[in-house]
Amino acid sequence: MSSSAELHKRRAAAVARGVGSVISSYVERAGGGTLVDVDGREWVDFAAGIAVTNVGNSAPRVVAAVREQVERFTHTCFMVAPYEQYVAVCEQLAALTPGTFDKRSALFNSGAEAVENAVKVARHATGRPAVVVFDHAYHGRTNLTMAMTAKSMPYKHGFGPFAPEVYRAPMSYPLRDGGLSGVDAAVRAIEVIEKQVGASNVAAVLIEPIQGEGGFVVPAPGFLPAIAAWAREAGAVFVADEIQTGFCRTGDWFASSHEGVEPDLVATAKGMAGGLPLAGVTGRAELMDSVHPGGLGGTYGGNPIACAAALAAIETMRELDLCAAARRIESVLRPGLEELAARHPAIGEVRGRGAMLAIELVVPGASGPTGPEPDPVTTARVALACHEAGLLVLTCGTHGNVLRFLPPLVISDEHLARGLKILGSALAS
Ligand SMILES: *Cc1c(COP(=O)(O)O)cnc(C)c1O
Repeated sequence: MSSSAELHKRRAAAVARGVGSVISSYVERAGGGTLVDVDGREWVDFAAGIAVTNVGNSAPRVVAAVREQVERFTHTCFMVAPYEQYVAVCEQLAALTPGTFDKRSALFNSGAEAVENAVKVARHATGRPAVVVFDHAYHGRTNLTMAMTAKSMPYKHGFGPFAPEVYRAPMSYPLRDGGLSGVDAAVRAIEVIEKQVGASNVAAVLIEPIQGEGGFVVPAPGFLPAIAAWAREAGAVFVADEIQTGFCRTGDWFASSHEGVEPDLVATAKGMAGGLPLAGVTGRAELMDSVHPGGLGGTYGGNPIACAAALAAIETMRELDLCAAARRIESVLRPGLEELAARHPAIGEVRGRGAMLAIELVVPGASGPTGPEPDPVTTARVALACHEAGLLVLTCGTHGNVLRFLPPLVISDEHLARGLKILGSALAS
């Protein structure tokens, strides 16, 4: 096996520069809560491949299911010759997503593709063009989803022009909107939508119930239900992008449930299939089935190996009660983070839900019209110090000043404690 240094050299000569990596070590293997690099160093994993390996890396059931499926057949294309695994994943999605109404699903390969297809369905079902998204949103890197994503650098810079008929409304961001209540923040957003887009033009209002790349922004209570109610009233489709929040991550199967919201459509991906690429759109049968046969699909969408992995991952989530595990992770991590916040005034806020937690770093004492001054420089330095000490953490946020913690839901208390300790030392340094 080559060393990380050797691999880095080969990479520079073969891999496009535009594809970045958080660390420069190369992975040899990974398990429940750790990664081991090719030089034998162990890392505590607070990233889970960006909230993907909720069941852990190489989870035993997933490995067995993939092995069995790969020996039977690897691909037929569901649009050519269908198979049971695809149907079974759609049954699971109908059972697990919020709402007991009649549902249908379609499967895809990536989160961005799921978001694109949710928009296709909403436009087709309503006959309307406009899509409303929110400040700090992240929905992907394809042309339509770049238009829907808020942050320019690095996601959009130089890649335009972007798809039309995408409009942005103000988000509820308690730390940065002067403590506006959820309902008041919804009134503010709805006014923008009604005046600048026009209710009757809106095909879909699409939102992450807790924002991911945008900074783990948890909207004030009442915001999501008010936006969903407005959408229903306006005849628009309310779409929850649960790609990062889904599959037990926030302590429930889906984050919409914490506020009793039943989205018309739900986009899923990341945590669904234990690391294999699989995504879905699930929602009201009358919306999904408004699309003509052949209108939705893709060569690889719902690949049988990815579906077998998803069924095994979902079984693992049930068997190990990973929703409860996410709540337990919060009960360990949050007090630790609160304690660090009490010691370090640079931590402006501890927020998140379940095993989706973050700290926002600010310049102590400095405040402007949008709240405390973000400190991306310290954030990057703390992240780097964590990486050097063997803790894999990710940054996020429109200002790049949020450190987020997304451990696999099967992580041990011992690894959680080790991760917290490394973070504490990194902050102190
Ligand atoms: C990651 C992510 C996406 C895009 O998913 P890809 O699989 O990277 O295309 C979309 N929405 C949210 C909320 C995400 O976290």
